[in-house]
Amino acid sequence: MQAFIAFNEYDAHQVEAMHAIPCHVFKPSGKYVPLMTTKEGAVDQAVKAISHTTTNLLTATEDTTWFILEMWFTVEKLWDVFQSRTLYHSENPVHGFRWYGNLSLADAASINWMQCNVKATGLTEWVDRALKFKKCIVSGSCGECGAKDVPVYTSSKQYGQNTFCSECWHTFLMERTTEGVFMSTDCDNVLDVSDAKQEATRPYGTMQAYIAFNEYDGMACEAMGALPCSVFKPPGMKKDGKYVPLVETKEAAVNKAVTLLTQTTTNMMSAKETTTWLILELSFAAEKALELFKKGALVRYEGGWRFYGDLHFSDASAFQWLTVTIPPKGLLQWAGPALMSKSCNACGFCNGCGAQEVPVWTSSKKYGFEAFCCECWHGFLTERATPGIFMPKVAAHSGEATSEPMEIEASS
Ligand SMILES: [Zn+2]
Ligand SMILES: [Zn+2]
Repeated sequence: MQAFIAFNEYDAHQVEAMHAIPCHVFKPSGKYVPLMTTKEGAVDQAVKAISHTTTNLLTATEDTTWFILEMWFTVEKLWDVFQSRTLYHSENPVHGFRWYGNLSLADAASINWMQCNVKATGLTEWVDRALKFKKCIVSGSCGECGAKDVPVYTSSKQYGQNTFCSECWHTFLMERTTEGVFMSTDCDNVLDVSDAKQEATRPYGTMQAYIAFNEYDGMACEAMGALPCSVFKPPGMKKDGKYVPLVETKEAAVNKAVTLLTQTTTNMMSAKETTTWLILELSFAAEKALELFKKGALVRYEGGWRFYGDLHFSDASAFQWLTVTIPPKGLLQWAGPALMSKSCNACGFCNGCGAQEVPVWTSSKKYGFEAFCCECWHGFLTERATPGIFMPKVAAHSGEATSEPMEIEASS
């Protein structure tokens, strides 16, 4: 299962630093972290939050940037948090889920940050959400700027029950905003962590970046002497990838390759068999890395880098291949991320093998919304798997075989 939550840049950094989302800042209850089922919902929720962060106020007058955290949970985890009553559906399904207590990012099988730009909403829209609890006089005079015959909103007793126009309210609140919701003293230890992180400097030298492949793709890369960025695209994306994702450790690289939702034969096999993966270790001398950084080709991200454009081995200062074999991870572990775009019923009937009271995942409309167990899905997808992500599309199996994995990836 996937869940989303969005933050402004300040809060996104705090969450990264804490590797957790503390629930106390989510008013009014402060008892749960509100998660959404879609990226759009998450952004909408963050933009419309009545928290007075600078970014929330800026949404009225400027385009703003928001950061969406995508979390994937395994079926085992889902079962666990459902049994322990940690995860709840909101009363209204469009409101997503409630995760009671602090959410440690380690609870997710994997996470991913995405960036999103939101157009300025205008003052009127902002007034509707930010001043909705204040008494409105449709035609009054503003106690601050003196404007007459304008809608004014009454301040609380504490502020003398004065009336102000929307512009003056916006300015007034703007002066009192905080950078983020994670500013409160409860997050002190968190701020320490982020401060320490800012001060810790990496020794100037050579950086190692990693990316892993199955043997087929590893050999394809080796033959090309390059990593074409077009094949690296988020699951479900039809557009070609624009960058090559590199990570900081060998372990992360392998983990990424194994759980990658591209349905290669090796990805399928990893559920049941020991599989072999090739790790490409790229060394960039600091000068080289900075040069690429200045060109905008190498962009730093938490946990790694993005290399925009095709990465030629000659772009790196040195490279070497390492081999690793990993034990089978089990069908259920495989099913979590691989079938996450499908609706899952923890206790259902499989239309394929007839198994009863097993977790089942629903197929698309094209396949009559029939539900299948992970064993049957695994068999179905294995038949349609390609040897690697570097398979030229035209050379892949004929029509039917290629269309289905695409269709599966795109359905949500
Ligand atoms: Zn005014
Ligand atoms: Zn089955």
